[in-house]
Amino acid sequence: MRIDFLTLFPDLCMNVMRESVIGRAVEKGLIDVACHNIRDYTENRQKQVDDAPFGGGMGMIMQAQPIYDCYRAVEAMDPRPCHLIYLTPQGKTLTQQRAVELSAMPRLALLCGHYEGVDERVLEELEPEEISIGDYVLTGGELPALVLADTVCRLVPGVLADDVCFTEESHFSGLLEYPQYSRPRVWRGREVPAVLLSGHHKNITAWRQEQSLLRTRQKRPDLLAKKPDADPD
Ligand code: SAM
Repeated sequence: MRIDFLTLFPDLCMNVMRESVIGRAVEKGLIDVACHNIRDYTENRQKQVDDAPFGGGMGMIMQAQPIYDCYRAVEAMDPRPCHLIYLTPQGKTLTQQRAVELSAMPRLALLCGHYEGVDERVLEELEPEEISIGDYVLTGGELPALVLADTVCRLVPGVLADDVCFTEESHFSGLLEYPQYSRPRVWRGREVPAVLLSGHHKNITAWRQEQSLLRTRQKRPDLLAKKPDADPD
């Protein structure tokens, strides 16, 4: 998979993508990452990418032309079809399900807005998928793009040690994950549940399924409402 960030802050994106699990996947060549500065595509000497909104109002708007030219140039860098996503609080909220679908795509391009957003006409022209990371507003699209990239990249085969790492996790099947424990066996008087020390795999699996259901019912009953077959009670 290849991911291109279209941003005013390419170093910010690249620095995060070089770290930890995703950084190792990039090093191994499982994921290709490139960050492009939209400012490099301006046609004015000052390299200005923003201007005041028509009709008045606060803040500045990212102009259509540099974004359009940047995307077309990025698109041409690789023959595989490129899926463009604009990170915006007006988009559909990112879900694990959508991340799974995106992880199967050969190329993603992530458009990061800034200031008061982008000129509407570039969205009409490029028709990106619009994705939000939640109902709140950040100053720029870089953090949302990194959230999306991290969520998607860890689903790419080979990035995690085993697919079980994510198929048993919260949200993959619509439930929350069971509680997890590590050493020591007793900490501040709190013991690890005996079943986890029993070595009896069938019982451990049954306990984990039960706990997963229980904590979803306690912490996120809204998830169970979307998945009525999961809750026998
Ligand atoms: N004026 C815009 C509005 O009200 O819809 C918000 C602009 S925001 C200050 C600047 C940029 O941050 C957006 O263009 C977008 O790329 C990004 N952004 C902010 N909040 C976001 C969110 N919740 N999800 C995804 N992107 C977001």
